[in-house]
Amino acid sequence: MLSIGGLTPFTTIDYPGKLAAVVFCQGCPWRCSYCHNQHLLDAGQSGTVTWQEIIRFLEQRRSLLDAVVFSGGEPTMQPTLPEALQAIRRMGFLTGLHTGGPYPQRLAACLSQLDWVGMDLKAPFKLYDQITGVAGSGTLAEQSAELLRASGVSHQFRTTVDPFLLADNRIEKMRLMVEGFGAKLLLQQALLR
Ligand code: SF4
Repeated sequence: MLSIGGLTPFTTIDYPGKLAAVVFCQGCPWRCSYCHNQHLLDAGQSGTVTWQEIIRFLEQRRSLLDAVVFSGGEPTMQPTLPEALQAIRRMGFLTGLHTGGPYPQRLAACLSQLDWVGMDLKAPFKLYDQITGVAGSGTLAEQSAELLRASGVSHQFRTTVDPFLLADNRIEKMRLMVEGFGAKLLLQQALLR
């Protein structure tokens, strides 16, 4: 079903107010300098956990967990994500997604199967390429943010504060950008390596 690079069995911080497991999807099209999940970036690398192992694990946790969050890497890179979300919902769990929004159409296909989305914003959209290393990434992220805003799905916009964002009033620009979506920007600290 999905290529999976890891599983966190229990967390209180990855889905607001819920006890969740986190499934780390393999592969990401972007290359942010501060990424602390480098081992998950290569989509050609085989997963380390099978979908069957995830399902077996969750069957034993039905009464202990509220939600399952798909993170990465970039979960929407994998076209089978909507089926995976549907399967998790059928088991009785809430579904969550962490995304940077590089695939707006695939995000759109997932929204009806999602209970909550945390979208990571990298910079003001015009400056995205400088963080992700990929031309046009800001346009795609903006489309995803618009889709999310209009979806009615509970969501959060977050950003990782790294030295790039500390220059030129960029955080304030992002804060205004998100307030334009009728939401608040959540700031997260970058892990220094
Ligand atoms: S989008 Fe996320 S997973 Fe992909 S390179 Fe950037 S920080 Fe890493």
